[in-house]
Amino acid sequence: MATYGLQIDGEERPSLSGRTMESLNPYTGKAWAVIPNGNNADVDLAVQAARRAFDTGPWSRLTATQRGALLRKLGDIIARDAEALAASESRDNGKLYREMLGQWKSLPDWFYYFGGMADKVHGHTIPSDRPNFFIYTRREPLGVVGAITPWNSPALLLIFKLAPGLAAGCTFVVKPSEHASVSTLELAKRIDEAGFPKGVFNVVTGMGDIGAALVNHPDVDKIAFTGATNTGKVIAAAAAKNLTRVSLELGGKSPNVVFEDADLEVAANGAIAGIFGATGQTCMAGSRLLVHESVHDALVERIVARTKAIKLGDPMGADTEMGPVSNVPQFRKVLEYLDVAKNDGAKFAYGGRPDEKLGGLFVQPTVLTGVTNDMRIAREEVFGPVLSIIKFRTEEEAVAIANDTRFGLAAAVWTKDVHRAHRVAHRLRAGTVWVNAYRVVSVTAPFGGFRESGLGRENGIDCIHEYTETKSVYVELTGEGRDPFQLG
Ligand code: NDP
Repeated sequence: MATYGLQIDGEERPSLSGRTMESLNPYTGKAWAVIPNGNNADVDLAVQAARRAFDTGPWSRLTATQRGALLRKLGDIIARDAEALAASESRDNGKLYREMLGQWKSLPDWFYYFGGMADKVHGHTIPSDRPNFFIYTRREPLGVVGAITPWNSPALLLIFKLAPGLAAGCTFVVKPSEHASVSTLELAKRIDEAGFPKGVFNVVTGMGDIGAALVNHPDVDKIAFTGATNTGKVIAAAAAKNLTRVSLELGGKSPNVVFEDADLEVAANGAIAGIFGATGQTCMAGSRLLVHESVHDALVERIVARTKAIKLGDPMGADTEMGPVSNVPQFRKVLEYLDVAKNDGAKFAYGGRPDEKLGGLFVQPTVLTGVTNDMRIAREEVFGPVLSIIKFRTEEEAVAIANDTRFGLAAAVWTKDVHRAHRVAHRLRAGTVWVNAYRVVSVTAPFGGFRESGLGRENGIDCIHEYTETKSVYVELTGEGRDPFQLG
């Protein structure tokens, strides 16, 4: 059994209470790693370490160019170890090894992209309207960041925060999900190996009150959270007490809109990728498939045929297409939603049960037809392999249904009509819209939600400013005294 410690001030150490917890492999149902079960005293130590590193430690004296070089070195180390890191993450959360490997192989790009940006984050000189004043701005690092990250893609969603935050000069205390903490602890070892000064990256694992202790800590300058919308709202309300900055990447009920002129074979493939990729456990899952009535039956037939052929099994298997649900609470939640769908009157075109052959936490990929947008199954995030198919008659109606949600994370449009593609993409209220594609993410493009899907953006050039504060500096040029009772 693998055993891990907390990462605090450059040291791997047990929790102050000495308590530990087991991390389960959702495929085998067996514990495979032991991690510390920390508490708010550990959070306090970690925040103090991050504070010292930020305020006075060697990190605070590095030039931005030196920070960038460290980030790029970390990228090289991750590229070297991608296989091992992917295997430990797959064991921890049950996602396909090949998806995790794809993620880990691309994650160095985040460190290269933001490493290259570290010494290009600059302020402006301002054409001053005050005579005799030279005014300029500085983009200064925000400070200590508390990152609270989920179990579905633990490293990817941490690195969305970490790479720009480190490039800006911040320090971190990370609270990974209790269901999948190992990859964050593995990453800590690589950060150490890359030569980051102690205290820059700290990890407190466990469950119960760690997240809240981080959010309420007066020495934490920003909370970056990915997870459930309701938890995000609680975090934002708590953070408001100290006016701690927040960025939130939350849930979705994303519409995947198929028009009558779409290539149905390609659209069916996109629908499957959107909802059954990662066993549906992604914030951007295309969980509502809106289909023009004239192609509804033909598309459903294709989707059901492909869904029946999905190969469920060992996430480490080279030809496995869908693994188990990642943890027991999530498995129960998915089953509850299958009941909700049944009670709402949805028709099960395929699936709808735990997988009897495989048992454990396996759920059949499920295709629901006859769904209307007022049903709970069309309004609430399931975070599992459950596709709700909704018919529409006109473009106007499709846009109205797509936007009739409290979320706004992602959406897709399937059509061969270039005018319609852009027109509809502009009208959909979502942070990301794909045209004739689904589930594509790039380090170069901003990612985040409209409405209750979040606050702020990750990735892309601008996201570095989620980790900076702007300071204006006024320099008097004459050296003469001024009227003390006049502003400006
Ligand atoms: P949550 O989103 O509820 O997040 C749990 C994490 O948040 C834990 O690390 C927990 O730490 C912390 N947390 C909980 N309450 C607070 C608080 N008041 N202040 C600060 N931190 C807090 O995830 P779950 O794993 O419970 O998943 C529930 C649902 O979230 C899923 O069904 C899915 O719908 C959604 N989800 C969305 C994801 C996305 O990518 N947008 C990813 C994963 C889940 P502690 O134990 O210390 O309190």
